[in-house]
Amino acid sequence: MSSAIIVGGGIAGLRAANVLKSHGLKVTILEGRDRVGGRILTETEPFMHEMGASWFHSTATNNLMPLLKTLNIEGYFDDSSVVALTEHGPAKGSGGNVKNEFVAWAHNYFKLNPTAEDMSAKKLYQKYAESVSHIDSEAKEQGYAVARFFEIPFGMPFSEISGKAVSGAGGSRPRDLYILNGYTKVIDWLKKEIADDIKLGVDVSAIEKTSSGYKVTTSKGDYTADAVIVAAPLNVLKRGDISLPSDVSKVSQALQHMSYGGMSKIYLTFDKPFWDTSVDQFHYIPSENAKEAVLNQPFVIVNLAASGKAQGLCFLTSKETSDLLEKTSTKDDIVNLIKPVLSVLGYKDEKPTFVERTTWTQDKYAGNGTFSSTKVGDDRGAWLEAVHAVSGNLQFAGEHCAFDNAGAADGAFDSGSVAAKKILEGLKVAYKNDNFAKL
Ligand SMILES: Cc1cc2nc3c(=O)[nH]c(=O)nc-3n(C[C@H](O)[C@H](O)[C@H](O)COP(=O)(O)OP(=O)(O)OC[C@H]3O[C@@H](n4cnc5c(N)ncnc54)[C@H](O)[C@@H]3O)c2cc1C
Repeated sequence: MSSAIIVGGGIAGLRAANVLKSHGLKVTILEGRDRVGGRILTETEPFMHEMGASWFHSTATNNLMPLLKTLNIEGYFDDSSVVALTEHGPAKGSGGNVKNEFVAWAHNYFKLNPTAEDMSAKKLYQKYAESVSHIDSEAKEQGYAVARFFEIPFGMPFSEISGKAVSGAGGSRPRDLYILNGYTKVIDWLKKEIADDIKLGVDVSAIEKTSSGYKVTTSKGDYTADAVIVAAPLNVLKRGDISLPSDVSKVSQALQHMSYGGMSKIYLTFDKPFWDTSVDQFHYIPSENAKEAVLNQPFVIVNLAASGKAQGLCFLTSKETSDLLEKTSTKDDIVNLIKPVLSVLGYKDEKPTFVERTTWTQDKYAGNGTFSSTKVGDDRGAWLEAVHAVSGNLQFAGEHCAFDNAGAADGAFDSGSVAAKKILEGLKVAYKNDNFAKL
């Protein structure tokens, strides 16, 4: 019986382990934490809420969608009403349309200048604003403020985001489904068939090639197997927490041209909502001249009352706010930090009944961040080429290896299918699709 070690028990590693086990391999999942699931983590008190992934993104193509029925996962499309707010109240003007025009312009710019050097999204916006004369300076400013929303999904400041990557972010926005009764149902489903094969609290530090397969060095001794799938986060690999064999040196090099972003969430609940509960999401548009520094940062604010989840709000923050937030030590500090934004929603010093924030940027097993991202000068294409050119019995999986929906849970899941299929090919085991593999 052939054997495989899977490093990392997130959605990618667990998916890969399931595929390999269902094809008759002996699998061992080595997980550093005392739980599996990685960046998917559902907390149940005082209400069910997600510390990591909370949406099934891009539902038209999301490979997790069939699980809604199988696992009785309930979701809510929270895109019916999105209200844009500034520090002075509801946003006026054409900022959203100007931002869309900027992305279309950027796409065309790199199409017409295929050899143009990458530049930051901020510089690219300046270039756009200088080259168009059909909108006035007020509209250009509004467009800039809305374009800064890229800071949240990229997990880095606008001045660092790759302009080339932003230029590919056009087109109509696919739908996202907010999961109400636990993303962890997906993890529990993936755990079912492999529960006895998971080793928790095993910190992997090195992978070496041997004459018969691979040796994996860990905090709990050495493990050996015919094949290995490395499904740890990008940043864990990038900073060398796990040393890799020299025959994948091209992967190690390409890793240096990829970046890792940081985003946080804050949950606040109240006895009585003071915000408009008919709205699904509020988008706070940053203001460069705001008196309070936090008001110069973008926020996506999910109204949890709209889906009936809680009398509360969930804030998704930019990297700059996340860094400040994760330095706070008390619940009062968290509320004080976010107060100016709460005030925009109608807050008058009501006492929250629950306050929580995430700490992914403090978590070494999450790579001290949240998802792979593209800084100016990075080359995701070269990374994907390098990682998927690897043949043989050492493969890579994780959201950063996904061709589609990179950064997201379904992209990570798909990457687990791809890595497992490549291992099976290497071992000459015929592959049977289980209809969850989008290969
Ligand atoms: C705050 C936040 C919000 C998000 N929102 C969404 C969303 O709404 N929708 C969506 O689709 N995606 C979202 N994502 C992204 C999504 O959660 C991830 O893309 C996905 O869960 C990554 O899965 P993975 O298996 O690639 O990595 P991970 O889940 O990080 O799994 C990697 C595993 O490797 C383990 N590991 C690390 N180092 C070692 C080591 N040295 N030895 C052994 N084990 C190790 C880790 O503990 C971890 O369990 C969000 C992420 C975050 C953090």
